[in-house]
Amino acid sequence: MTSFGIMGGTFDPIHFGHLLLAERAREAYGLQTVVFVPAGYPWQKPYRVTDPDKRWAMTTLAIQGNPGFEASRIEIDRPGPSYSFDTIHQMVAERPGQTPYFITGMDAILQILTWRRSDELPQLTHFVAAARRGYGIRKAKEALSPEFLERTQFLKMPLMETSSTAIRNRVCNGHSIRYLTPERVRQFILKEGLYKD
Ligand code: ATP
Ligand code: MG
Repeated sequence: MTSFGIMGGTFDPIHFGHLLLAERAREAYGLQTVVFVPAGYPWQKPYRVTDPDKRWAMTTLAIQGNPGFEASRIEIDRPGPSYSFDTIHQMVAERPGQTPYFITGMDAILQILTWRRSDELPQLTHFVAAARRGYGIRKAKEALSPEFLERTQFLKMPLMETSSTAIRNRVCNGHSIRYLTPERVRQFILKEGLYKD
């Protein structure tokens, strides 16, 4: 039985934290592929996100060269707000017989509980959750229902502090973002003049 990963995110911009998380999950659970799914119009984000096609471009640049990674426009091309339930549902339907793993950081898995139809998610997919600064396993275990916990794998990986917010702030302040994201992504951000204000 083959398995695949779903790596959702705003990816504004994508960075090494996302890439390492996806790679470690791929390896740990023997996933045939990890599909990166940039969010279309994230209704939860408090700030104005970058144009979807630019986030798509950065995502494809970032995964270039890893045969275990691919990207999907499923959320970007769907009109209206993006609901992860619909995304996961559709991706599972498109891959009959394959076991899905939805890959997240611990902060995100706690947010999932607020999603539309979140109580149905454990019937649909497994979850992989990795620790982030300020979000350890204990916090997640307290918050997740038994149905969720049963379907969640806690992935050990080196804690990386990198966040998209920190990268945007660095660009805005004229600081270097080298070694936080793949060089091709950094070049794209500079060329397009993203995150200057
Ligand atoms: P922002 O700062 O804008 O919220 P972000 O860096 O958190 O951005 P998202 O696109 O919100 O990135 O996150 C997508 C997914 O990647 C989430 O599940 C998040 O928990 C996870 N993630 C992001 N950064 C890291 C990291 N450094 N280590 C582990 N997981 C991460
Ligand atoms: Mg985030």
